[in-house]
Amino acid sequence: MNKPPTPVASNFIRNIIDGDLAANKNDGRVVTRFPPEPNGYLHIGHVKSICLNFGIAKQYGGKCNLRFDDTNPVKENEEFVKAIKADVEWLGFEWDELKHASDYFDELYNYAVELIKQGKAYVDSSTAEEVRSMRGSLTEPGTPSPYSNRSIEENLDLFARMKAGEFEDGEHILRAKIDMASGNINMRDPTLYRIRKVHHVRTGTDWSIYPMYDYTHCISDAMENITHSLCTLEFEDHRPLYDWVLDTLQTPAHPQQIEFARLELEYMILSKRWLKKLVEDGRVSGWDDPRMPTITGIRRRGYTPAALREFCERIGVTKNDAWIEMAVLETIIRDDLNEHSPRRMAVLDPIKVIITDLADDYNETLSFANHPQKEEFGRRDVAFTKEVMIDRDDFSENPPPKYQRLIPGGEVRLRGSYVIKCEEVIKNDAGEVIELRCTHDAATLGKKPEGRKVKGVIHWVSASAGVSAEVRVYDRLFTVPNPGAAESLEATLNPDSIAVHKQCYLEASLADAKPEERFQFERLGYFVADRYEHSKQNPVFNRTVTLRDTWAK
Ligand code: ATP
Ligand code: MG
Repeated sequence: MNKPPTPVASNFIRNIIDGDLAANKNDGRVVTRFPPEPNGYLHIGHVKSICLNFGIAKQYGGKCNLRFDDTNPVKENEEFVKAIKADVEWLGFEWDELKHASDYFDELYNYAVELIKQGKAYVDSSTAEEVRSMRGSLTEPGTPSPYSNRSIEENLDLFARMKAGEFEDGEHILRAKIDMASGNINMRDPTLYRIRKVHHVRTGTDWSIYPMYDYTHCISDAMENITHSLCTLEFEDHRPLYDWVLDTLQTPAHPQQIEFARLELEYMILSKRWLKKLVEDGRVSGWDDPRMPTITGIRRRGYTPAALREFCERIGVTKNDAWIEMAVLETIIRDDLNEHSPRRMAVLDPIKVIITDLADDYNETLSFANHPQKEEFGRRDVAFTKEVMIDRDDFSENPPPKYQRLIPGGEVRLRGSYVIKCEEVIKNDAGEVIELRCTHDAATLGKKPEGRKVKGVIHWVSASAGVSAEVRVYDRLFTVPNPGAAESLEATLNPDSIAVHKQCYLEASLADAKPEERFQFERLGYFVADRYEHSKQNPVFNRTVTLRDTWAK
């Protein structure tokens, strides 16, 4: 039986919406949006925002738009747009409308003209350096710009010419005229528009000026009749500006901005800028490297959309910054995969075992359950032959205390098969064990051996019937809980975050696995057929997670 999903927990945002609905605010509508900037791939922090925005729309029978915040054409591109859509869909959400901030470039411009006409915006011709020096600090007020008293006519003329492309980048900006002495630096005449003579993916060369995030976001929300504009806490100080723009312009709708805490994951970095650097510096194989916290990386690692949604439910939504331990995420995927993945045997670091008392062409078909608790998973045939592979870890010439695997002269059970005894250890010139000669006890198939105890059970794969494969075992990408705070990101990278096993042996049926099919490799962990590189001819598997928590100290 499947575990019931975690019931929808209440949180402060749901409480606010319940209150709004009870008061019939917004005529009982609930409309949210997920507004990524297409300047990189989404990461698990975004998953929190996606689950929240789409989840709320679903719970209240409302709507959620996907809106690309595409106001910075220098950093944005179509590759990211496509990837973001695919990620949201993979997570299991459907957007009501697909929007772009650039859909509103005309309206944004007209609203800016209106601000100028109201005497609430002006063209500033100071250099970036001058603007910065006049801004003041947390303890000192700013200084009004010498351009802040330009006439409305002059401002209208200059702004129109900025739009027409008469000036170069940096010559002028359009600023709101609010309060240079405000205790909130965001209110000290914030920039609304800057000149950028660059091509935009959707509007081409139509525009020489592009609106700033704070100005664009609130108006875009209003244009879409968003009721609850959910964003992360760093925007709390921007809310007065959000409200100022909408109040001053008397837009048809005035959405409510509500802030919640970002997701921070230990041993990870959740920032597109940093993730981009890892990709560009070649520290990972790409945005979809299975060690990356990107949605596409996590997907390739073998995580399921259901586990990510469950994770977001469990961590909840609050206003307090909280670091989540990696173990929380791993426990959820482990539980999911334990329920849903069939078992197989795989040997990652093989030593050959020759069972000398079997005929050369010995081939017995054994029947294995695909899941120890779930009959509905069925059974499969596993070939047992004279030569089998076992993992190097499962043999020791100098065993530590309590070692229950194979030792010279000792016995062990091959899982689901016979008890074997190691009679002879063969080494190469370098002294490495390359082969074990064993005998088997024919009376031990499905039965305990007579007169003695054999405790150890190890996994194995037939050398002749198995298939060779590449298996990639991943570990944490960073060695410290908060790599973002480290002086050098490079110094905190884990040099052992990937181990590629090129000579693995797998049960033959695993070659037929489809990309992204998931299995438990007995005693080793949960693995997924690589989404891109796995094929019948060249099987490739990635380890999603270990069987047990390896993070606990
Ligand atoms: P990054 O800093 O990684 O570039 P961002 O906030 O600039 O992220 P956006 O594309 O602007 O990325 O984010 C889209 C939405 O996702 C925003 O509403 C943002 O608040 C939210 N979001 C981003 N990171 C997180 C996070 N770690 N936890 C929760 N929500 C997040
Ligand atoms: Mg951003």
